[in-house]
Amino acid sequence: MNNLEFVQKTELFSYSGTNCIRNDYYHNACQLCVDICPENAFHLVRNKLTLFSNECIECAACIGSCPTEALSIANFDSNAYTKSFAANENKLLSCKKTTACLGAFDVHHYITMALDSDVEPICDLSHCKDCALNKDKKVEGFIRGEIAKANNFLSECGVEAVVRTLEEKVEEENSRRMVFKKAFSKMQNAAKEEKDSAKTLPMTLEYQRNSNNSGLPLKFLHLKEALRTNLSKLSTSSHASNFGIFAKKEISFQDCTNCGDCVQFCPTEALLKSADKHGINFNVGNCIACGICDHICKTDAIKTGVGIDLVNVAYDRGEELVHYEMVMCHECRCPYPYRGGDPICDRCANYKQDFDHIFTLAKDI
Ligand code: SF4
Ligand code: SF4
Ligand code: SF4
Repeated sequence: MNNLEFVQKTELFSYSGTNCIRNDYYHNACQLCVDICPENAFHLVRNKLTLFSNECIECAACIGSCPTEALSIANFDSNAYTKSFAANENKLLSCKKTTACLGAFDVHHYITMALDSDVEPICDLSHCKDCALNKDKKVEGFIRGEIAKANNFLSECGVEAVVRTLEEKVEEENSRRMVFKKAFSKMQNAAKEEKDSAKTLPMTLEYQRNSNNSGLPLKFLHLKEALRTNLSKLSTSSHASNFGIFAKKEISFQDCTNCGDCVQFCPTEALLKSADKHGINFNVGNCIACGICDHICKTDAIKTGVGIDLVNVAYDRGEELVHYEMVMCHECRCPYPYRGGDPICDRCANYKQDFDHIFTLAKDI
């Protein structure tokens, strides 16, 4: 767990700057929460994300959009809900009855619920069109997009279950509504009472505890667990697409300088230096496809390859992406990763190339 916590919160809602990849890596451009928030409560101040707590209405619509679970709300935990979904009799996800705004879920949650349960999840979208949170249909667009991604994944894997949607309002039993309303306000009050205690960040804390310091979001861990448990439901584990959820990395032997920047900035320790520090290993089961490594590499050596094998994801099957023999540069006498040819490091080779004309002139004089 990080020793330095940076948390901004309202009574119920919390934003952990420590878990935000935009804050972690200066050049990361993630602003998914900024885009979805119906109240514009997130602002970019000096390129960092800041929550203006007086503008946040604690609607939870942004929570599912965050790839690294930097956002949480005290009265609803989408990870706990997903985990208990199979045992739950009610398979209807409804912001009026059982959950917070469905914006609190994303593709990881939907796939996990569909895989784990014998009965398909049904998302109640019948209230979206009249909902005050659904300005410019952004929230509804996000929810439908995540459901579509989950269904694409399930269909490509040959899984019979799909995530269904409920489009028309059904007649409600008033008494049932009241029971839920009461239960919800009870939860809100209980959460308010705990606002100053450490318990106001249940999801973030659980995420940090479970991630085993790897920084892996809990929703990703749950999805891997669901894949392991339900591999027999999949007609195939090998796919040409990575579904926008996973990434298979490749590093060019000729272009990589073994600088280690990608390893240092990977938020989930999917990239690691080899034991002798002369190479880079990759654990596909830890990669959340954030793209930071692609962006940070100065020589464009690292790329996302085509396709994914879900067995490798589920069982954390690692691989060596590059490994170098280190040799001494005959100019500067420093060790560098040898890729063939004259034993001269990139820096000295570039220096020679850039200043060759100066040396030529001096020699001519
Ligand atoms: S969605 Fe998450 S990672 Fe992205 S800017 Fe918002 S808090 Fe940060
Ligand atoms: S892939 Fe790029 S960032 Fe990573 S070690 Fe090689 S050169 Fe450095
Ligand atoms: S390997 Fe690259 S894409 Fe995957 S989590 Fe690490 S930085 Fe992100």
